[in-house]
Amino acid sequence: MLKTLIIRDIVYTFAAVLTEKSVKKLAELTLLLKGRSADVQVITSHLAGDFFDEPEPCEVRSASVDVAIKVVPRGEWLNLDMAIKGELTIPCDRCLDDMTHRVDTEYHLTVKPGREFDDSVDGVLQVPAHWRELDLSPMVRDTVMLTIPIMHVHPSVDECNSEMIERLEQHRGADTLPDNSKPAADPRWDALNALIKQE
Ligand SMILES: [Zn+2]
Repeated sequence: MLKTLIIRDIVYTFAAVLTEKSVKKLAELTLLLKGRSADVQVITSHLAGDFFDEPEPCEVRSASVDVAIKVVPRGEWLNLDMAIKGELTIPCDRCLDDMTHRVDTEYHLTVKPGREFDDSVDGVLQVPAHWRELDLSPMVRDTVMLTIPIMHVHPSVDECNSEMIERLEQHRGADTLPDNSKPAADPRWDALNALIKQE
């Protein structure tokens, strides 16, 4: 009985490790460049908020984004069709409260071997011919981040946190100097102005 239990535990632990590994592998968004088959491949991944914290934390507070990348080999070239859909939680620029930003975007990229890494041409990525794999995470991250408008606010002021807006306005008011505290004009300019007027 005890032996069965131990074996069951080992099997369960092993299964958990395997599951964890396969989930991690999916999240890595790795494109195999060498030793791949000539078949069309689809890479899928679900991105959560922590995906956007690399290489440095950004304004994304949480995320639920699905990525599907269709990889079509064309000789030595690989044509990638990325479809990215989901939602991000980011701060509203007006009230700083959470707001939802919907992502629904596509990106097409051709990966080709060459002498050195070159991403200067939009939509074409040249990678050193000896590379065995390519991490697609930076491209996916950039594609998602570029969908966020520079100014992003709740669609209506009514949806904003009015208390927060009031506090921010008070804060801004305290930062601007009252008129009587402005430095007095240099009297030498007054003398010059008087001379100009006389002419
Ligand atoms: Zn707002």
